[in-house]
Amino acid sequence: MLREDTYKLKGLRKQLVEELKHKGIQDRRVLQAIENVPRHYFVTPGLEELCYKDQALPTLAQQTISQPYTVAYQTQCLEIQAGETVLEIGTGSGYQAVILAALGAKVYTIERISILYEQTSALLNTFNMDIQCKLGDGTLGWPEYAPFDKIIVTAGSPDIPQNLIQQLKVKGKMVIPVGKRDVQVMTLVEKISSKDIKTTSLDTFRFVPLLGEQGWSE
Ligand code: SAM
Repeated sequence: MLREDTYKLKGLRKQLVEELKHKGIQDRRVLQAIENVPRHYFVTPGLEELCYKDQALPTLAQQTISQPYTVAYQTQCLEIQAGETVLEIGTGSGYQAVILAALGAKVYTIERISILYEQTSALLNTFNMDIQCKLGDGTLGWPEYAPFDKIIVTAGSPDIPQNLIQQLKVKGKMVIPVGKRDVQVMTLVEKISSKDIKTTSLDTFRFVPLLGEQGWSE
């Protein structure tokens, strides 16, 4: 059952949105989604107030729920339009998937750790939203539902996985942190034609590693 969304927690969410604006997030729809979606539904009980600070928090299996700024930043990069299909790699807590769905996207999300997949898919089923979850190696994408309008990778990758490029629509966009195991550059990938991509390097972030066939080995 979802936890109560108190007046106090709603107020903390408004303050968080103000902080994100000061840090440079400008997309009003993204800010509205952050304000509307209770982040405390996605964190361990006891962390309800802490979760409205702009910081990453631990989830099961030594993974993290990304910092709200990072969620807003990646979402803003994608310029989501209602009705678009979005593939997310790294379901984690499910918070990012719900932010995407709140913007009207049809979301396909993949998690490789079974305990996280089980807990989060059960939680996501309690929302009346267009989100499908899968347990597996997200570096291989989800060919049954490809091509996607947008792809978001929420773990740090050594490179841009070829399967994900293939599964992106022409004119589609992918946002992926690329770099070393402990620090990455957010990279915007635009698919110009069936054979060509344009990449733009943005800011530096620290994500947990993307582990898999086209990511890091364990
Ligand atoms: N998007 C998440 C959220 O909103 O809570 C945060 C994701 S957390 C920073 C990164 C997640 O990526 C972890 O849950 C990790 O298990 C997952 N992950 C790492 N490699 C993966 C892969 N190859 N396929 C799917 N998930 C992967």
